[in-house]
Amino acid sequence: ATEAAGVDWNGTGATSDGHRIKVLANVGAPPDAVAAAEAGAEGVGLFRTEFCYLDVDSEPSVDSQRSAYAAVLEPFAGKPVVVRTLDAGADKPLVFLSQEDEPNPALGVRGIRVSAERTGVLDRQLEAIAGAAQQARAEVSVMAPMVATAEEAAWFAERVRAAGLPRAGVMIEVPSAALTAREVFDAVDFVSLGTNDLAQYTFAADRQLGAVAALNDPWQPALLRLIALVGEAAKEKGKPAGVCGEAAADPLLARVLVGLGITSLSMNAGSVRAVGASLASATFADCERAARAAVAASTAAAARVAVAEGQ
Ligand code: PEP
Ligand code: MG
Repeated sequence: ATEAAGVDWNGTGATSDGHRIKVLANVGAPPDAVAAAEAGAEGVGLFRTEFCYLDVDSEPSVDSQRSAYAAVLEPFAGKPVVVRTLDAGADKPLVFLSQEDEPNPALGVRGIRVSAERTGVLDRQLEAIAGAAQQARAEVSVMAPMVATAEEAAWFAERVRAAGLPRAGVMIEVPSAALTAREVFDAVDFVSLGTNDLAQYTFAADRQLGAVAALNDPWQPALLRLIALVGEAAKEKGKPAGVCGEAAADPLLARVLVGLGITSLSMNAGSVRAVGASLASATFADCERAARAAVAASTAAAARVAVAEGQ
């Protein structure tokens, strides 16, 4: 069973034997943040800032960015919020960062690659985030999307610290970043796995294409083995590793992720309660057993069955 009988979500993410896991929400615009707080999320694991700007045709002023971010942070005063810098690219076009047409948008100049070309845009966004964090008194961390190397992670962390922000992280959503997780951790304070893109780039399967959806199944053992590498590196380095892709919203898979060494899970607000309840009804040893079974499976379907039967 994915939701254990009689065990409910008490608002603090933990296994039944007290292994702490933060249960967080993914948000875009201010109404998402209100819904996430109402759903009992302990904070925000992914604030997709590009959703504030999809209709804007010139770069918003620092002041206007600051008030847009503060509106999202406000329901989470005193709580952790991970703000992601703009994830613009041909798939999530932002008019003011418009680029040449690219033949393969998913492989083009997107995420941190745009920031590297337009450092002024990044620095002004960081200034606005720092201002919003002070205004709303949330515990803000900042992370970059689409990071492929430890060198990019170090470059980003330096700019975040120069903006006076205390915690810098990166998303791990490109296989090269997962494979070099130790070096990435040396450059940053935390990482967060974006399993939607990590699956897309691992299986060479467009995440928006129904015809290849089976390859993008988050139970795929190859994806779980990459996550395991990151979990091991997190433990070795003593730094947090979250998951903020759709994988975190599956109550049974959430146990697997915890067993792989993941320290926080961030999801749509609607899944917070079920994931919190699932973790509360398993021990950490159950999660580790689930992780071993899923990683050893030869197919996504076999991983699901092995975990469901073993719990
Ligand atoms: C992801 O890729 O898993 C992720 C969380 O980021 P987005 O879905 O915004 O690309
Ligand atoms: Mg992504």
